[in-house]
Order: sequence, then structure tokens, then C-alpha cells
Amino acid sequence: MSTFLFDKIVFGPVQSRRLGTSLGINLLPVNAKICTFNCQYCECGFNFKPQESHIPSRNEVKNELRNMLSEMKADNKKLDVITFAGNGEPTMHTDFASIVDDTIALRNEFFPDAKISVLSNSTLIHKPTVFDALNKVDNNILKMDSAIDTTIHLLNQPGSSSFSAKWLIEHLKRFNGNLILQTLFLQGEIDGKHIDNTTAEEIKAWLNAIQEIRPKQVMIYTLARDTPAQTLKKATYKQLNEIAGKVKALHIEVSVSE
Ligand code: SF4
Repeated sequence: MSTFLFDKIVFGPVQSRRLGTSLGINLLPVNAKICTFNCQYCECGFNFKPQESHIPSRNEVKNELRNMLSEMKADNKKLDVITFAGNGEPTMHTDFASIVDDTIALRNEFFPDAKISVLSNSTLIHKPTVFDALNKVDNNILKMDSAIDTTIHLLNQPGSSSFSAKWLIEHLKRFNGNLILQTLFLQGEIDGKHIDNTTAEEIKAWLNAIQEIRPKQVMIYTLARDTPAQTLKKATYKQLNEIAGKVKALHIEVSVSE
């Protein structure tokens, strides 16, 4: 197993499968993985927090981002997107909303054509400050790996036992379409239990949820890197394309990455 942590607050730019040339922002400690989920496939590994770990302050994030953007601008570099990702769930940061405001201001100053993306697991979208901040970014990318509770609890391992598909769908609907829904498809074994979110039952429930949520886009993908649970397998490109066809039939834009 070789999962990895991002060792900086601002990292990259990297070439993203889904987003183009992307500069990343990590609002979690560089030596910990902290998330409200504990996904079996997380490329940062399972949650852990050493005794000494430091959450970057709003000012640290702002200063690091300003320095990086000004350096990239001076070097005539290209930038498609600034992406909140990193070693856990970005919306957990207590200053998330203010940091989004700072990032919008810095983007406007240095790279006005670049987009701002947030990759979030959707667990904190009930918080008004998080909801409002996500509504301000260009790409509000929210996770829904399944619309079936047992699969969500096995695959994503939410920290709250009351987290449910029903709760998730109701809260995603509140964005009135201003979201990109992302789903990772896979198969495998977890703790002796079979998992497969590509079955007919799974896809039926997931498509019903999509019809209710009406996102502006759906991003579907599969494993690309090592995972902490080592008994997981990628969905095939054929499977992803078949699922994408069903989303297109709902007249919703869909992208597929292997
Ligand atoms: S939501 Fe994202 S960061 Fe959190 S455990 Fe899952 S994959 Fe990792």
C-alpha cells in the first residue's frame, strides 16, 4: 500500500484527470488525514492524527496562495483551476467560508480566467456558512457514491452513524442544480462483505437520486491510485460508459475518467 499525504498548504500545479492544470489547497495538517468520512479507497489513507499537528490559519493559506499565484504569473505559467482538496475534508476548516472569499479575491487579481473548485464529501453542507461558500465557487463538486445506506456506511464510513442517503439527497437538492455530483464506482470485498456500487439495484437508486437533485453535471470515475483497503477493484471503462449513457438519457451532462 502506498497512499500519500499532501505535504504543503498550497501544492502543485498538477495535471488533474478531471480539472486540467490545477493548483491545490490543503486546509488540513500536512502530517495527518482528517475527514468526516473514512473512505475505503481514500488515496490519503485511513484517518489518523498524530499528537502534534497544525491546521493552517486563514492568513497562512492566504499568504501561501498569494506567493504561489504571483510566482506563477511572473513565470507566465498557465492555470485552469484552483482546487480545494488535500488531506481530508476542506469544509471542516472553521474559516472555510472566509478562505473561499480570500481565494476568489486572489484568483480575480492574478488569474481571473481560472476556476475555483471544491472537492467535498457533502457531510457539512447543512451548515449555512459552508452552503453559502460552496454556492460562490465555480465548481461545487459534491460526493455521492451511492444512494443506498448500507453501501455508504461500508464504503465511505461516515463519522456520524445518522448520515443517510435520504439526508444527503435532501441537502443536495437545496443547491437548486448549482453542483457537480461526483461518484466513484468500484467493486471488491470489505471486511468479508462484497461491495459493488455498479449493480442494477445501485444504479437504479443512484439515477433516481440524480433525477431529484438535478446537478448541472455528473462526474464519474474509478480508482486511479493505491487504496487503504487492498481488496478493491476498479470499475471498467465499459461499465463507466454504460452508467454515463444512463445519465445522458436524463439530459444531464456527464464526464467519465478512468
Ligand atoms: S471524503 Fe475524500 S478525503 Fe474524506 S476519506 Fe473520502 S476520499 Fe478521503
